[in-house]
Amino acid sequence: MRILVAGGAGFIGSHLCDALLDRGAEVICIDNLITGQAENIAHLRAHPRFQFVQADICSSLPITGPLDRIYHLASPASPPGYLRRPLETALVNSLGTYRLLELARATGARFLLASTSEAYGDPLVHPQPEDYWGNVNPIGVRSCYDEGKRFAEALTMVYVREYGVDARIVRIFNCYGPRSDPNDGRLIPNFVTQALTGQPLTVYGEGTQTRSLCYVSDLVDGLVRAIETPGTTGRVYNLGNPDERSVLEFAQLIKQITGSPSEIVFQPLARDDDPRRRCPDISRARAELGWEPRVSLDEGLTRTIAWFRERLGLGNQSPGSDSTGHGQ
Ligand code: UDP
Repeated sequence: MRILVAGGAGFIGSHLCDALLDRGAEVICIDNLITGQAENIAHLRAHPRFQFVQADICSSLPITGPLDRIYHLASPASPPGYLRRPLETALVNSLGTYRLLELARATGARFLLASTSEAYGDPLVHPQPEDYWGNVNPIGVRSCYDEGKRFAEALTMVYVREYGVDARIVRIFNCYGPRSDPNDGRLIPNFVTQALTGQPLTVYGEGTQTRSLCYVSDLVDGLVRAIETPGTTGRVYNLGNPDERSVLEFAQLIKQITGSPSEIVFQPLARDDDPRRRCPDISRARAELGWEPRVSLDEGLTRTIAWFRERLGLGNQSPGSDSTGHGQ
C-alpha cells in the first residue's frame, strides 16, 4: 500500500508513519515543518519505504504516482501554535484540505480527515456525541482552528456526496505522549517540563476545567481502524479517552509521578474561549471500529515523563520510537 501522511512530521503524524511502516506500507510524509519537527522523523529517514517531502500543501503538492490512502493531519494543533499562525491554520484546513481531497478524487485513494474535539467548541452537551453540533464562537480567537476544521469537515462531505470520494472524519480529543513538543504550550508538555525542571506548575483559572487525554498509540490505532474498517465512508468518529479529569488533577498526578517538589500556582486563564469541559462519547467508535483506548492515564504519563526526561537531558531512560510501548 502506498500512503500519504500530510502533517507526518508532527507529534501524532510521526507516530502514524511509524505504525504504517510497521504494517508494511510505503509511506510518503509531507510537512512544511512550521509546527512539525524534523527530529520526529529523523529515525525514519533511512527507511527504504519512507519518503519525506518538505512542502506546504496549500501552495504545492509534489506527489506523483498511485496512492491508496491519504491521512490529512496537516495543521497547527496546539492553541499557542495556531494562535501564532492563524492564517496558515485557516488556509491549511480550507485550501489544504481542498488540494488533498482533489488528490484523493484523482487517485481513488481512501481519505481520512483529522478533525478535532474543538469542533464542539465550549460544549453544552456532555459528554459529546458525534451528532452534537457544537457551541463555537465563529469570530473568536480560536476560530481559525475550530471553524477551519468545521469547514474541512463540510468540504470532506461535499467530496463524499458529490464525487464519491471514500472519505471519513475523526474528531481527535486531547492527545499526549512522546514527541509532543515541549514548547507548544499545552497542558501535558507544560506541566511535565515544569515538574521535571523544578518550576511551578501553572494552572490557568481555578483548574476546574476538564479534559480527557488519550495516549498517542491508542489514537493511532483508532486512525488506522477508521480508514481500514469497511462501511466508514462519510462517517465521523470521536477518538479520545473518556477518562475525564480536571486540570488541577492532572497537575497533582504529574507532581506525584515525577516526585517533583514544584508547587502548583494559579494564573489567570491564558486564552479566551477556553472550553470548560471536554469528554468524548466513544460509543460509535467502540461499536463500528471495535476501538477502545487501552493505555491508562498513569501508564501513559509514566511513559511520557520518561521521554521528556530524556528530551530535556535529565535522565537515561530510552526515548523515541518504542517509548509508546506499542513497538511503533
Ligand atoms: N492549561 C493550564 N496550564 C498550562 C497549559 C494549559 O492550566 O500551562 C489548561 C488550559 O487553560 C486548558 C487545558 O489546560 O483549560 C488544556 O489546554 P491545552 O492547551 O492542552 O489544549 P486545549 O484542550 O485547550 O485545546
